[in-house]
Amino acid sequence: MTVRLRKLFHDLTTEDLKQLDRQSAVAVLTVGATEQHGPHLPLATDTIIGEGIVAAALAQVSEKVSALVLPTLPYGDSIEHTAYPGTISLEPQTLFDVWLQIGESVARAGIQKLVIFNSHGGQIHMVDSVAKHLRVKHDMLVVKANYMLFDIFADLFVARELQFGLHGGAVETSIMLHLCSELVRLDKAKDFKSSLENTVNDHPHLTTVSDAAFSWSSQDLNPAGACGDATQANADLGRVVVERASRILANMIEEAATFSLASLSSNP
Ligand SMILES: [Zn+2]
Repeated sequence: MTVRLRKLFHDLTTEDLKQLDRQSAVAVLTVGATEQHGPHLPLATDTIIGEGIVAAALAQVSEKVSALVLPTLPYGDSIEHTAYPGTISLEPQTLFDVWLQIGESVARAGIQKLVIFNSHGGQIHMVDSVAKHLRVKHDMLVVKANYMLFDIFADLFVARELQFGLHGGAVETSIMLHLCSELVRLDKAKDFKSSLENTVNDHPHLTTVSDAAFSWSSQDLNPAGACGDATQANADLGRVVVERASRILANMIEEAATFSLASLSSNP
């Protein structure tokens, strides 16, 4: 499936940006990852999913909204996957600096609203931190969005999968089958059982609903580098996830456009 982004930031000219309605324009930054996703999914999985959902969202955003998609960042903080070849990981300080400086550059272009769409679970905390700094230093509205945190999965996947299928399981494999099936090696998809399924019995307080209460490295959960039942994946499920996630993201972009920057004050 090929989707064209509606409006790319870097297709504009510097003159275009001068004429922009700076109060309502929203920049959208997709932050993905290049990291191992088990034997059946490509290294680009998070980046492909991020771009796919953003493209689908852009197609739904009102034509009245100036939503400008910045070039995607395909590298993230993926240290938990570095035991596997192919993972490219940036140190948190590097990533923080890059995201912050992109945000500062967006502000310098006169755009005070930024939606960061993150498709990698391992850097949610980083998005929070950068967003906070851009708010305080540059009076920006920074909206933090990660489809994994959207309430869209409960009727699509069984509870076991939602609790333990954290990486390369039915959710990500389904989305990839919808967006980019030619890169999925379905013959290598398995039920990659997570070690957290044992931990939840012996150490229930260390295993929460959707993640572990301790930091893990991918091999802790399953030596294959994936966890979750990838055999339950199908393209229809992936299509529904992308439809739901992109609708929410489109709403977030439209609401950011109408949000009053005057409500973000520099002084008490
Ligand atoms: Zn992923």
